[in-house]
Amino acid sequence: MSAVNENISLAGFQDFTRAVYGQSNDRYFSQNDIEFNIERFAMRGLKGIRKGDKEKIKQNLLITSTWFMSLLNQLHVNLEEEVWKRFPGVCSYCNCAPCACREKKTEERLKIVPNESRRPKTLREIQDMFRVIYPPEKRTLEDVSIHLAEEIGELSEALLAYRGSHDDRSFEQVSLEAADLFSCLVGVFNSLDLDLAHELAAIFYDNCHVCHSAPCTCNFNAIINYKS
Ligand SMILES: [Zn+2]
Ligand SMILES: [Zn+2]
Repeated sequence: MSAVNENISLAGFQDFTRAVYGQSNDRYFSQNDIEFNIERFAMRGLKGIRKGDKEKIKQNLLITSTWFMSLLNQLHVNLEEEVWKRFPGVCSYCNCAPCACREKKTEERLKIVPNESRRPKTLREIQDMFRVIYPPEKRTLEDVSIHLAEEIGELSEALLAYRGSHDDRSFEQVSLEAADLFSCLVGVFNSLDLDLAHELAAIFYDNCHVCHSAPCTCNFNAIINYKS
């Protein structure tokens, strides 16, 4: 059995999605298809924001996170490593926590030397880290949600560029954009005052949240017609 518990690491959650969804993803979905599903569920989450429906936002962004992890699994990108490289306890642009980009008018990304002793070990600690860097009081739920949509677009752009070039630099950009997207996804949970690890553990207590099997046995039609 595969399960998410509240003390799971981000790498542990990535392993969970591989164990539960790796087989059906490989059989049913190309990378493009997985991207469509990231967009599909993230946009449903944004619809929840427009309608003020917290449950709809939460459910759809939890599902988005599994498609996002599935994409990274196919690309063999370790999200935990990428998040720490990009956000080593400080904003990746201004090198501050809380972020002071607006005040400092940071134009260029500063070189940051990570302090390994501050590295978060669990998903919950990563969410805490993002709460310090990007305090939810300093931006609205709408702001962070629009930023999430931007980052989904930027990840698509990076993937398109990588597919055209197949070079290491473009691949590095894909990894960076993945970390940025994740920071916004966590940012939405911080704005909603929801504990991401707790919410993931609540739906993924027993393999797939729909069929409760690992590997997931939901058939293709059930997946593409899933209502949420
Ligand atoms: Zn900043
Ligand atoms: Zn399933």
